Amino acid sequence: MADFRPSRRSLFAATAGLAAGVGGFAGAAKPAAAQPLRWPDGKRAAVSLTYDDGLNSQLDNAVPELNRYGWKATFFLTEANAHWRLADWEALARAGNEVANHTMTHPCALAHWSADQFARSELGPMDGYLDANFGPDRAKTFAYPCGYLGLGQGDRRRRFARYRRVLERDGVVAARTTAGGPNRPADVVADRLRLHAFEPADDSDVVGPALRYLNETVAQGGWAILVFHEVLPQAKAEGDASVAVHNRILARIAELDLWCAPMGQVFDYVEAAERSVAAPRLAGR
Ligand SMILES: [Zn+2]
Repeated sequence: MADFRPSRRSLFAATAGLAAGVGGFAGAAKPAAAQPLRWPDGKRAAVSLTYDDGLNSQLDNAVPELNRYGWKATFFLTEANAHWRLADWEALARAGNEVANHTMTHPCALAHWSADQFARSELGPMDGYLDANFGPDRAKTFAYPCGYLGLGQGDRRRRFARYRRVLERDGVVAARTTAGGPNRPADVVADRLRLHAFEPADDSDVVGPALRYLNETVAQGGWAILVFHEVLPQAKAEGDASVAVHNRILARIAELDLWCAPMGQVFDYVEAAERSVAAPRLAGR
């Protein structure tokens, strides 16, 4: 995917495609003033559930609960883990869940990596692995291993700029960090390779911070992205979520009546909606 930025060419196609979602959009007649984005089916906000590292506990403990609600999620896989139960991940993807790139081996300390080395040994091969096993027609999203946004040497800005260029060259359309508040739709497209996310079990296996994050998302009409790693009967280590906490968070999402969809799907929706807002401005010139 060479065309990384929003394409003017597809502005109107995107608008037409969204007609049902944004309800009665009337082309140039609609004022272009900043309006809250309208989520599908009149939902108040969106949430994406993301699961990192291709862990068995996600297949065994999180997926049954997702299925109970009929929700699809995003699974950021590493080859190092996913190959153990590849058939199960394939079945999950066939059922409509997103599987996406989290590198081959999950390197976290990237100070001594060159951009080419990272692309050649981690990003590219993982794309190849996903293409071979799940087909090339999938969301080109990415989650930063360990949430580290720096590649190679230099100050923070330079290291992130280098990482971003590698992802852009690879055709990644949206990338997720592990920090920040709810995503504001207006910021999503501009900062697509630094989408905010919240990890409920990062500090401890409790439900409160996640509920506050979801409430804030609703108040803003924004997009919540939740990050899970192990989902176990009992949390054992930092970053583990217990099944009880995981399930309570999902129950709250159901109560709040949020639009729950995989990350690539929500990103595409926001991008198209933002283009449709820009279209009347362009048409008026
Ligand atoms: Zn990870």
